[in-house]
Amino acid sequence: MVSQKILTNLTKSSWIRAMFEEGEKLRKKFGQDNVYDFSLGNPDLEPPKIVKEALKKAVLSNEPKMHGYMSNAGYPNVRAALAAKLTQTTGVALEARHIVMECGAGGAMNVVLKTLLNPDEEVIVLSPYFAEYLFYIDNHGGRPVIVNTDRQTFQPDPQKLYDAITPKTKAIIINTPNNPSGVVYSRSSLEKISEVIEKREKEYATKICIISDEPYDKIVYDNTEIPSMFTIFKNTIIVNSFSKSLSLPGERIGFIAVNPAINDISSLVDGLIFSTRTLGFVNAPALFQRILPKSLNAQVDVAAYERRRNMLYDIVTKAGFKCLKPQGAFYLFPQSPIEDDVAFCNSAIKHNMVIVPGTGFGCKGFFRLAYCVSEKTIINSQKAFEALAAEYR
Ligand code: PLP
Repeated sequence: MVSQKILTNLTKSSWIRAMFEEGEKLRKKFGQDNVYDFSLGNPDLEPPKIVKEALKKAVLSNEPKMHGYMSNAGYPNVRAALAAKLTQTTGVALEARHIVMECGAGGAMNVVLKTLLNPDEEVIVLSPYFAEYLFYIDNHGGRPVIVNTDRQTFQPDPQKLYDAITPKTKAIIINTPNNPSGVVYSRSSLEKISEVIEKREKEYATKICIISDEPYDKIVYDNTEIPSMFTIFKNTIIVNSFSKSLSLPGERIGFIAVNPAINDISSLVDGLIFSTRTLGFVNAPALFQRILPKSLNAQVDVAAYERRRNMLYDIVTKAGFKCLKPQGAFYLFPQSPIEDDVAFCNSAIKHNMVIVPGTGFGCKGFFRLAYCVSEKTIINSQKAFEALAAEYR
């Protein structure tokens, strides 16, 4: 009954499910406390108090049509509040009409791709990447083109990007802070990306968009700068959500923001609203839009993630793994001691550890550790990392 395409895609993405199932099996056998499951990027920190208070108030409100349909773009006051907040953080003056509320960053990315893509147009994805991008692009008839970042720094490689752009390139997805590397792309890296695109646009007489996927923009350490792509490249569309910044991934609340400098902005926004409707999202969840005006200055306890980053980084590097110390998100992306990262991750299971091969993120020879786990789990994992490293000495 299931289409050939979905069957093929199911096989391609089966490693995620396999890892999850492995974790479940281990937990059943050895108990929750004795399993070191670093596989899932599912935030475990509580949402800020102000979010819960705003939610209580919204739930109890007797305002008429509280749970009704609304304009497909979202509540006007919520779009305005978000525009004001983004004006502060990006330094670019935004208005409510530049914002469309969406069902998470994943929903937002699908809406953008549906709106932009003609059949067989190409979308460049920088590896390592969030694996779902490839399926999202395929959802809307596009073709993903993968370009490797530098394997020492995970910063984009301008020459490789230049070589990959063709007359069919419609968009480039960038994701910083990055899942899975945790790396923040520097201002100079982003400026070089912009220069390369502008050069190719002139050579081919085409227009290319940057889709900037930013769900980790608030989870940043060491006072690292997160430059706004709006100030660097004109045809930029931001997709973002409150899944990580407010620990609300299950509530599916996110948004799209378009750069006010874009030329045909009203047809773009009309297209985004149309796609939101016709993909069946209709509108972003009403209740969670309502909590936003009060919650936009709040964020989860980033210091807690930072402590975990430091602890896990120390454990992993002392055990002998080579690893960059990333400045954002909640992932470490160490090098696998053998090229076959899948075999390496499988060998971690006997130490009660669940870790994800870099191959799943388009980056063979590495593995991802998501530190959305307690400090106790991190501390207790030390012996397991040492035993795993010892196997490969
Ligand atoms: N983009 C990246 C890079 C992610 O890591 C994730 C989720 O982990 C998403 C998008 C999807 O986020 P959301 O829950 O807001 O749809």
